[in-house]
Amino acid sequence: MSKTYYPVIGLEIHAELSTVSKMFCGCKNDPDEEKQNTNICPICMGHPGTLPVPNKKAIENVIKVGLALGSNIANFTEFDRKNYFYPDIPKGYQISQYKYPIVTSGALNGFAITRIHLEEDTGLSKHDRGDFTLVDYNRAGVPLMEMVTEPVIHSAKDAANFARELQLLLRTLGVSNANMEKGEMRVEPNISISDDPNKFGTKVEVKNLNSFKSVEKAIEYELSRMQALYEAGRQDEIVQETRGWDENKQTTFSQRSKENANDYRYFPDPDIPKFMLNEMFDMNDLKSSLPELPWQKRDRYKKDLGLGEESEVFVQDFELSKYFETVVRNLVSTDQIKTASNYIVSDMLGILKKDTSAKMPSPENFSILINMISDGEITSRGAKDILSIMMKEDQDPKTLAEKEGLLQQNDEESLKKIVEKIISEQTSLVEQYRSGKESVIQALVGVMMKETKGSANPQIALKIFKEELSK
Ligand code: ADP
Ligand code: ZN
Ligand code: MG
Repeated sequence: MSKTYYPVIGLEIHAELSTVSKMFCGCKNDPDEEKQNTNICPICMGHPGTLPVPNKKAIENVIKVGLALGSNIANFTEFDRKNYFYPDIPKGYQISQYKYPIVTSGALNGFAITRIHLEEDTGLSKHDRGDFTLVDYNRAGVPLMEMVTEPVIHSAKDAANFARELQLLLRTLGVSNANMEKGEMRVEPNISISDDPNKFGTKVEVKNLNSFKSVEKAIEYELSRMQALYEAGRQDEIVQETRGWDENKQTTFSQRSKENANDYRYFPDPDIPKFMLNEMFDMNDLKSSLPELPWQKRDRYKKDLGLGEESEVFVQDFELSKYFETVVRNLVSTDQIKTASNYIVSDMLGILKKDTSAKMPSPENFSILINMISDGEITSRGAKDILSIMMKEDQDPKTLAEKEGLLQQNDEESLKKIVEKIISEQTSLVEQYRSGKESVIQALVGVMMKETKGSANPQIALKIFKEELSK
């Protein structure tokens, strides 16, 4: 009989803050600098006698994240030295925070956050150049926030979605580019399983994950590895350790057993003053300066604009939502808004994907097109044709519809002439209809739509066919 296992996941997520300068010196913070060891100075290289000067903007950015998450913002905060010896850390210690992080508590996607603190990034070691390691210190001293969650996540999917939502928040707040492929955001899941819901199992921590997909895959892999050990009665082989992720093999592997906090000999950095954040920042000001947050936008799109699940496309894409909202200003009804959103999400994005030279039409022209649809001046078939022309060359859809003969024909007299012509030509369909197979009338309407390049109003056409055929 198979037992139930309880997976537990807690995340540690680092994100480089996109400030102008580094955390404790005036060096440029430029993740795109390609020339190694150019943005460095005696401070971030750890030369003796230099003094760090904290970057106020970086502290402000962490506070903003905390305010967005409904967290507690500390009044008293300080920086600590985390001591360890590694070539990418030139001082022999990393400036971080230990006892007094800037942010505690709060939640994201319903998952409780333990803390968010600020530290400095390390240099970047390159091991792929031969029998030696090279270090690029451009990254050393770049402000890095670290968020730690409570062990309250229970599935790989939830963990990956948490990280996605955090990325979106950081981008919305403008505090980090949070690109995982570039290492600007690094997600380290802590994972355990237990056969007792009231007891935690031994956890491992997985590193080197550079996409949301690998976060999910690595957690799934770890959970099934652990479960297999449990099922074989070998759960004591699960040891607390750091594991790496092998992207090619899609497996984790043991890297090293975990050090304890006391190995780091944390102590307050005597070179950096303590902070009283309430004296440095006006928290109410900061709070009211926050932009619309992803979950607020999600709500507004559903409640105020009446959109469904497709609103997520806009929530995830700031530029697209800006476009959409400009269009919405020229619309009056929720039906129109829904039509506009459908055309953007399915048609426009579809065309952009297929044709790299296609461009979004101006919001003005696009809203004229939506108005033409709701006024019945054009059929949806015709609208799609016009949209694809507008995405090659942006122009007024009314003129375009006239030129292409796509204006919907509502005029019964002229439609009747075409109906008569079709009835005289489609003798077999007409015969079937008259002998009782009434459904072929749809085929006749289809012929009509083809003949008029989709411009005939199909409801009116259907009505005329019925009238003419009953004569
Ligand atoms: P450590 O002292 O080993 O760094 P922490 O208590 O600081 O451990 O927790 C680090 C991360 O691990 C946090 O995100 C926390 O939620 C998570 N965590 C703690 N215990 C477990 C566990 N048994 N299973 C999964 N995650 C855990
Ligand atoms: Zn520097
Ligand atoms: Mg810890």
